[in-house]
Amino acid sequence: MAAIKLTQKANRERVLEVIQRLGETYPDARCALNFSTPLELLVSVILSAQCTDERVNIVTRELFQRFKTAADYAEAPPEAIEKIIHSCGFYRQKTKSIQNACRALLDRFGGEIPGTMEELLTLDGVGRKTANVVLAECHGVPGIIVDTHCKRVAGRLGFTKNTDPVKIEFDLLKIVPREHQRMFSHYMVFHGRNICHARSARCSQCPLFELCPFPHSAKGKKIAK
Ligand code: SF4
Repeated sequence: MAAIKLTQKANRERVLEVIQRLGETYPDARCALNFSTPLELLVSVILSAQCTDERVNIVTRELFQRFKTAADYAEAPPEAIEKIIHSCGFYRQKTKSIQNACRALLDRFGGEIPGTMEELLTLDGVGRKTANVVLAECHGVPGIIVDTHCKRVAGRLGFTKNTDPVKIEFDLLKIVPREHQRMFSHYMVFHGRNICHARSARCSQCPLFELCPFPHSAKGKKIAK
């Protein structure tokens, strides 16, 4: 097999093929968190740190019944939130972040979720990943969401050599066309969960096999199954 070129120009062409194949493989790819308002999404993403989306969705069934507005969260005794989100882990810190973020929403944004990265980053518990999720899903703003799956899969595909999430985001922004950025992020998560696992990448069953340098690398030969 001819060596895969990893220049930015070659990566721009390869990423389009990757997007097409993953689109065919995961036609239902979407945000796995259940939400019906931007505030619900913000709360869900804060809860999802170090926790599975499935667990978050279980917890938010009750949470979203009880708390509907930023004021509901801001004015609640912390224990009322902690009790419900306990099983998500880091429940005290997450409660604090949710309440502080909601107080800031009330103080500075009329209780609504703002629509720019700069504004979202001023909220407690909100980093670029959370902000990009909210912007993409609620405001239709293109962006790359770098989670653990995106970091691993994009790295193995040779689209970035960086390990810092912000540097990875900017590497990917250079090669993924704006109109594909939201779905590219979902594809990375779906592919990481289904085939490109951390400990045993199923390269021989992967639709990206001949587009990916990893199975042909020394490390990949050890991990691929
Ligand atoms: S070929 Fe292997 S390493 Fe590359 S994307 Fe597929 S599963 Fe992941």
